[in-house]
Amino acid sequence: MARVFAIANQKGGVGKTTTCVNLAASLVATRRRVLLIDLDPQGNATTGSGVDKLNLEHSIYDVLTGECSLVEAMQFSEHGGYQLLPANRDLTAAEVSLLNMPAKEKRLREALAPVRENYDYILIDCPPSLSMLTVNALAASDGVIIPMQCEYYALEGLTDLVNSIQRIAGALNPELRIEGLLRTMYDPRSSLTNEVSDQLKAHFSDQLYETVIPRNVRLAEAPSHGMPALEYDKQSKGAQAYLALAGELSRRQRRSARAVTA
Ligand code: ADP
Ligand code: MG
Repeated sequence: MARVFAIANQKGGVGKTTTCVNLAASLVATRRRVLLIDLDPQGNATTGSGVDKLNLEHSIYDVLTGECSLVEAMQFSEHGGYQLLPANRDLTAAEVSLLNMPAKEKRLREALAPVRENYDYILIDCPPSLSMLTVNALAASDGVIIPMQCEYYALEGLTDLVNSIQRIAGALNPELRIEGLLRTMYDPRSSLTNEVSDQLKAHFSDQLYETVIPRNVRLAEAPSHGMPALEYDKQSKGAQAYLALAGELSRRQRRSARAVTA
């Protein structure tokens, strides 16, 4: 049964999409079955997976509105090795279209139910907002992965995000938890980075991933070739960091599975 993770942060440009694409490819490299869902109308995860967002027969929008099944909208990412539910600007209409639908917050959860057993991991790339789309992602997920930059205002934004997640989860999905905090675009030479990083360790030690994602130009270049860094430049620091993250994620999973059965 797949573990479903929303990759969320209401702030834009913190590395949500980069994390989705590269973590998905890294999990595939460790022989996991992965479905990546692009839930951002910008469609960056779609483009970054090598799928043309301007020529989609079906997208996640059609799935949410019930116009087609999830399997009908799915496409295979050649370079990533995972299945993709693509998105494009059509998805901006979802906010309005979903308003009058029954169980509007649970459309994604219901759509995923029949395919959950076909995957080990389902990753959801959220838009930079706490909109109805993000609410659908949180209602469908077991955990939230929060990518963040170690900047001055990061902690303040984090508190807001955690509170919002708790509020939304309380009403719709009591099982939801913060799966992990991921430090992205990490620069160990910056004293501010180290300061914020220390504060994160103090407040969120259990949830903070040991793996950090360095600032790496290969991660920024790879999407324009429609591929994850692992395919574009496997030896790059960025590709290797996401491989390490996939390893840490799996180890955590095994540990919590043992805790449940022990
Ligand atoms: P979000 O999805 O949160 O808006 P993105 O993943 O699109 O953020 O990242 C924002 C920009 O920063 C993109 O241009 C991306 O290529 C770049 N980027 C993301 N992570 C890194 C990194 N670790 N090193 C260098 N550039 C990065
Ligand atoms: Mg994005």
